[in-house]
Amino acid sequence: MDKACNNPKCGVSTSMFMEQLTFGSGDLDEYGFWEYPCAICAREYERRHPEDGMCWPLREKQPLTREDMLTAEVLLLEDAKDHLQKCLKLLNSLTITMRERKASEDGSEPYRNEVSAYTNNEWFIERQTAYLIATALEQLGKIKVPEE
Ligand SMILES: [Zn+2]
Repeated sequence: MDKACNNPKCGVSTSMFMEQLTFGSGDLDEYGFWEYPCAICAREYERRHPEDGMCWPLREKQPLTREDMLTAEVLLLEDAKDHLQKCLKLLNSLTITMRERKASEDGSEPYRNEVSAYTNNEWFIERQTAYLIATALEQLGKIKVPEE
């Protein structure tokens, strides 16, 4: 794609949170945002590909709608849930490894395949996030889109 801004260093990436395309140059942070945002390329891309939604940097005077906020909540919750579950799995597997190593070293109680606190927490996270996501989606479903 030709660069609308004519800056050869201008690039495109994807933001981690909203999976939104981001345009700019310079350093790219860990979330997919550029050091120097390029509004020219962002607007041009939106014009050519309206089906892909808003790009970053966002258009000015574009307040977030309630629908945007609820959608962002759902995405953040799903993202947080995935991260928490990965952490819990890592902690759980580390606990098993350490207990088994300790048992082989000093004859203490080896790991038994019990329902661990980690598993309970996983269930808790699953239930809580499912509830929160369902609540946000329900609210999202109640938003009336004005007819044209
Ligand atoms: Zn550009």
